[in-house]
Amino acid sequence: MIDHLLDGNREFVTNEFQPHAAYYQSIAQRQAPRVLWIGCSDSRVSEDVITGSRPGTMFVHRNVANIVAFNDVNIASIIEYAMVHLKIEDVIVCGHTRCGGIAAIEDGVHENYIADWLCIASGAKVVADRLATEKKLTREQKLEVLAAENVKLQIKHLRSLAIIRNMREKGPLPRIHGWLYRVETGKVDVLIDGREGHETGT
Ligand SMILES: [Zn+2]
Repeated sequence: MIDHLLDGNREFVTNEFQPHAAYYQSIAQRQAPRVLWIGCSDSRVSEDVITGSRPGTMFVHRNVANIVAFNDVNIASIIEYAMVHLKIEDVIVCGHTRCGGIAAIEDGVHENYIADWLCIASGAKVVADRLATEKKLTREQKLEVLAAENVKLQIKHLRSLAIIRNMREKGPLPRIHGWLYRVETGKVDVLIDGREGHETGT
């Protein structure tokens, strides 16, 4: 596997880096990403690949089940750096279907750290439980609803963080987008479109 990765890097240098040397030299001087991506650690949801983006496009934070935690110095420092220093204007919170973290929220989980972490998403299960009963959803449908509700909940958390709340009291930035990536099709569903005039307010 490791040889495969190193071969892949040699191919990247030959087929991508060197033919676009001017671009890579410019980002070598200074990164200027346009998007803060908050996604799941899941290996299938590679933000650059699924959006056709080159290195240098996104500043990235990924964790189990794309959670925006209040007490997490890691995500807080990433958000601060993205907003204050990189002056990023768009934040995407991206969940995905077939998410192990989402299934663990639904089924319960006993590992200590994972269970504690997923508590931060438990409000999404309350909503998904209600919708599943009302609409008589299958397990798979319910997990999809739970993944979507979790994105909406984490966006609420993001908007509640003081740094974001203070910025948005002064203006429309950052724009906050909620996406659901479908690992079965490769397509993105836009749950919340944060562009001006598109804000759903969910
Ligand atoms: Zn996941």
